[in-house]
Amino acid sequence: MKTRLFTPGPTPVPEETLLELAKPVGYHRSAEAKAILAELTEDLKYVFQTTNTVVTITSSGTGGMDAAVSSSLAAGEKVILLTAGRWGERWRGILKAYGTNIVTVEVPYGKAVTPEMLESALKANPDAKAVFATLSETSTGVGHDLEAFGKLTSKTDALLIVDAISGLGAMECHTDKWNLDIVVTGSQKALMLPPGLAFVSVNDKAWKKIEANPVRNFYLDLRRYKKSIAESDTPFTPANTLIKAQRASLKRIRAEGIENLWARHAKMGNAARAAVKAMGLELFAERPNNGLTVITVPNGVDGSATLKAMEKKYGFKLADGQDNMKGKIWRLSHMGYTDAFEVLGAIAALELVLIEGGHKIEPGVGVAAFQKAFAAK
Ligand SMILES: *Cc1c(COP(=O)(O)O)cnc(C)c1O
Repeated sequence: MKTRLFTPGPTPVPEETLLELAKPVGYHRSAEAKAILAELTEDLKYVFQTTNTVVTITSSGTGGMDAAVSSSLAAGEKVILLTAGRWGERWRGILKAYGTNIVTVEVPYGKAVTPEMLESALKANPDAKAVFATLSETSTGVGHDLEAFGKLTSKTDALLIVDAISGLGAMECHTDKWNLDIVVTGSQKALMLPPGLAFVSVNDKAWKKIEANPVRNFYLDLRRYKKSIAESDTPFTPANTLIKAQRASLKRIRAEGIENLWARHAKMGNAARAAVKAMGLELFAERPNNGLTVITVPNGVDGSATLKAMEKKYGFKLADGQDNMKGKIWRLSHMGYTDAFEVLGAIAALELVLIEGGHKIEPGVGVAAFQKAFAAK
């Protein structure tokens, strides 16, 4: 049986990228290695839609988030945290660890933080040094309006620091045009690589704050990465095999074109949502993003057992809810190297296991709705 991965990280990796990973390991300080990193950095700038520095850190995505917090904030400084789920809570954990003074704007799981909420938080806290947001809240499927957030923060001294770990490369995101001061992403979501690299873009407003900040870290000090990247280098031994492989995956994005990539994900998200509705199921996110579709487990259905059956019988691996959401939602990723026919397969498999579990669904309704939505202009 084939195993098919539909988790919102890690995601499937293209064949040409996997082949890169099979090649002999080179020396990371060679001229060739520097040329590869330089090329990767240029392609990252394209994906981020920025002309600013993008640095590469060998860590999971959280390492990039940690670097953003610890490099730009001193203990006791006030920050506004916008949280709508588990990844907003990840920001909170890091902010707490570094002793910042957190003002929290929180919405229930499945809801989105609105620009109005940020506007009043900024008004009430003119001394806030930074705002922390999440582009795609992968734990609930919500996408946030970063364009509107950026309009608000750009009028203040506060930095807008964005976790775009599953959003970048799946949802429209304009780092420069939207005034996103620091943007963090990871390699194993829409960027089509195994886990292991984090990428962070930093603009001039953020560098000013970072350069005046006390030293609070060593490995994750963004100043070190800035200095090195000017020479197309890294401060420490990087995962150079992954860098080479990431270059291959980004070439795929370059060839497709970023606008086409956003449109492809939008089309896929739209069709997946149509399928869910046609199956009589409910979408969990009030403001869904296009990288993944999150489905509310219907009453009377054992959510976790259904996913286990899908995996065991048919090889389809979707993600359960995390922590207290376990068994309550199903998360179907369609970001990155996943095509419509694979998603159609997942919908067919979900229909099947639900029917086998005694749930009343007409076979093919989800599949037909997906195709209908996909065919529409
Ligand atoms: C996956 C994910 C993370 C965590 O990244 P790691 O690579 O596991 O450290 C953080 N934020 C979001 C939005 C994510 O999707």
